[in-house]
Amino acid sequence: MLIDNHNRVINYVRLAVTDRCNLRCNYCMPEEGIAFARKDHLLSIPELKRLSRLLVAKGVDKIRITGGEPFVRKDLMSLLEYQASLEGLREISITTNATLIGPHIGTLEKLGIRSVNLSLDAIRPDTFARITRRDHFHTVYGNLMRLIDSKIDVRINFIVLKGQNEEDIYPMIEFQKEYPVSVRFLEEMPFNGGSRDFTKLHWDHRRILEHISERYPDFEKLPAPLTSTSVNYKIPGHRGSFGIIPSFSRTFCGSCNRLRVTATGDLITCLYGKPVANLRSPLRFAGEDRIVEDILVQAVGSRARDGFEAQDQFGPIFGSSMTSIGG
Ligand code: SAM
Ligand code: SF4
Repeated sequence: MLIDNHNRVINYVRLAVTDRCNLRCNYCMPEEGIAFARKDHLLSIPELKRLSRLLVAKGVDKIRITGGEPFVRKDLMSLLEYQASLEGLREISITTNATLIGPHIGTLEKLGIRSVNLSLDAIRPDTFARITRRDHFHTVYGNLMRLIDSKIDVRINFIVLKGQNEEDIYPMIEFQKEYPVSVRFLEEMPFNGGSRDFTKLHWDHRRILEHISERYPDFEKLPAPLTSTSVNYKIPGHRGSFGIIPSFSRTFCGSCNRLRVTATGDLITCLYGKPVANLRSPLRFAGEDRIVEDILVQAVGSRARDGFEAQDQFGPIFGSSMTSIGG
C-alpha cells in the first residue's frame, strides 16, 4: 500500500496517455498549441500497461485516464481492455472532451468503465466554439446524450470563465434538472501554457455558489466521500445534481489520495508542484519491477502537505499547460 508522509493512503492515479489534443480550449493552451513532447518520449501502451499493473499491486484501486485528449490515441482501447482485466482495480474512469468517444461507447460499457467526466464549458454552440477554438459542439452534445443513455455515469466539468461563459451557468443548471447528470463548476487554474494571464481569480467557489443561489436558492448539500474534490448539491425536483470544485482555492488538499503520471512518465505528487521523478526509463527498459516500485514509494514518502506548500517548495509551475499535466 502507498501511504504518504502525512499518513494519507494513495489509492488513486490520474494517468495522462497523451499531451496531444484536437481542441484548443483557451484556458488550457494557446491557439498554436504547446511544445508537444517527442512521440518517442510518450509512454507506449506496453509501458502504460506495466505501470498500471505495478500501481494496482501497490494498492491503487482507481485510475483515471486523461490527457491531452485520451481518444486521439488510437491504441487507447487496448490499454483499457488490459486495465479492465486487472483484479484489484475497482474503478476506471476517463476525462474527455467527448469529440471522439462516440464509436467506443458500447465497448466502454462492456469493459465496465465506471464514469466519464466530460469537459463542456458551454451549452451554446457559439460559446463552445469561442472557448475551444473548434466547431465540434454538435458532436460533443450528441455523444453526451448517448453517454447519458448508457450505463456509464456522466459528469460534466464546466470551468467558469470570466467574460466567456457566465451566461451558460443557469442553462447548465437547467440541463441537470432535465437529465440525470452531475454538473461540476470548476475554478479556473493558471495552467494554460501561457494562453491567458491572470493573477486574481474572479469566479471563485464562493462566488459561483452565490450566483447559483440567486436563481436557485433551495438546494441541499449531498454527502460526499472525504477524498472528494467537489462539494455537491441537489435542487429538489431536479434529476441531476451540481457541484463546485475549488481547484484554485484548494480547500480539499487535506484528504488528497492521488498521484499523477504525465504522458511522458513524469510523476507528480501534487498538481501544484513540479514532477518529482520520471518513470519512463525504468518502465521502458526491462528491469526489475522493484525499481519502479521504489520510485513510487520514495515519491509518496515526501509529499507536500497541500498545494500551497508544493507551490512554495518547487516554485510556481504556472507556465505549464493542463494538456501536459492531465488536469
Ligand atoms: N482533453 C480532456 C478534457 O478536456 O476533458 C482531458 C484532459 S483536460 C487537460 C482535463 C481537465 O482539465 C478538463 O476537465 C479541463 O477542463 C481541465 N482544465 C484544463 N485547463 C484548465 C485550467 N486552466 N483550469 C482548470 N481546469 C482546467
Ligand atoms: Fe484539449 Fe482538454 Fe485541454 Fe481542451 S481542456 S484543449 S479538450 S486537453
